[in-house]
Amino acid sequence: MQDKLESIFASVVRRNPGEGEFHQAVREVLDSVAPALKRHPEYAEAKIIERICEPERQIIFRVPWEDDRGEVHINRGFRVEFNSALGPYKGGLRFHPSVYLGIVKFLGFEQLFKNALTGMPIGGGKGGSDFDPKGRSDREVMRFCQSFMTELYRHIGEYTDVPAGDIGVGGREIGYLFGQYKRITNRYESAVLTGKALSYGGAQVRREATGYGAVFFAEEMLRADGGDSLDGKRVVVSGSGNVAIYAIEKVHQLGGTVVACSDSSGYIHDPKGINVEVLKHLKEVRRARIDEYAEAYPHATFVAGRPIWEVPCQVAIPCATQNELTGTDALSLIAGGCTTVVEGANMPTTPEAVRNFTEAGVRFAPGKAANAGGVAASALEMQQNASRDSWTFEYSEQRLREVMQTIHARCHATADEYGMPGNYVAGANIDGFRLVAEAMLAHGLI
Ligand code: GLU
Repeated sequence: MQDKLESIFASVVRRNPGEGEFHQAVREVLDSVAPALKRHPEYAEAKIIERICEPERQIIFRVPWEDDRGEVHINRGFRVEFNSALGPYKGGLRFHPSVYLGIVKFLGFEQLFKNALTGMPIGGGKGGSDFDPKGRSDREVMRFCQSFMTELYRHIGEYTDVPAGDIGVGGREIGYLFGQYKRITNRYESAVLTGKALSYGGAQVRREATGYGAVFFAEEMLRADGGDSLDGKRVVVSGSGNVAIYAIEKVHQLGGTVVACSDSSGYIHDPKGINVEVLKHLKEVRRARIDEYAEAYPHATFVAGRPIWEVPCQVAIPCATQNELTGTDALSLIAGGCTTVVEGANMPTTPEAVRNFTEAGVRFAPGKAANAGGVAASALEMQQNASRDSWTFEYSEQRLREVMQTIHARCHATADEYGMPGNYVAGANIDGFRLVAEAMLAHGLI
């Protein structure tokens, strides 16, 4: 079995040269699923793994746009429609200069299993562009989004492919993208995009959902292991975008204290607990850098160019980006007394760091389980759009909490079933894989 998996991996590397993040994501899943393949010879016979590793469709397109000075720019747009066994392709769009095909594929691959774990009828996809929205005016962002959608619209639809936000794509961008889709198609197809504003078909708790969901997952992990909770815990959350902000808010609501958060310039250490309202104003309204937080709060310090993981904590929630938490960072966290790590971002922990956590007995939750709250809330948004309904904040949050509890229970039970208690990586990968595999088998060879 191991030889077979090695040869599948070698073929993925050969067919997708230079796409390191994608190789890393595939490796992690292949390393987990061998026991499931042993129990289900029909998966190997139908070449389910080989089919899962090959996206159903990959779209690459030119995005020309004009800046405020009249200069023309050309960016590259992507949409990787990875797998539609469980429902229409579903996953965010990322606008960041680092975006290339390998990043979009890694994110689409992760998304497939994450979406399966939510138990909702959504397949996996991802897209984006190497466009950098930083420092761009609203009008420039609008022109870019309109140009991006002028090509993307022909590939998406509420029954086909439903994009949402990710890094660099928030409510503003989704609004411009939706407006252009509506204009080109002459259809008010609310569920073609999720993450919409409440004024035109958005859902309560969608904005908060990834961060809140990761914290609900952390609560479940602590509860499952000796009935502990976040109450009174010192927590470090990396990042200061949408996921981080709402993770911090929920930790505080549950009685923990988030003492540090970060952006690409460095981190803020506030021993009294990050003031989330100040952070929201800085990041959501002013789109400013995090060092200004320390100007508003003199008891807080800004530390430039150093890893946030040197701040001692009991719970760490990496919410910035892929591979932000290295093997060395993991050792610092362990030395600082960290017992629980929950991935709010997609694959923020390097394989070496995961090994260090596992060896030290640190509880570790992979993003495809712990950050599934965002896409789960997107599926709830699609449900509300389909029934022309809108739910209250309280009801929506309750639904999100139940989804996260179910995902936790499934990962936990699957890890037990396969004799690896407490191994959330194995639990999430095996369970997500089984769900996709069963649907693919049912559909025949397509
Ligand atoms: N970008 C988010 C994720 O990584 C959300 C995707 C969605 O809502 O479709 O899961």
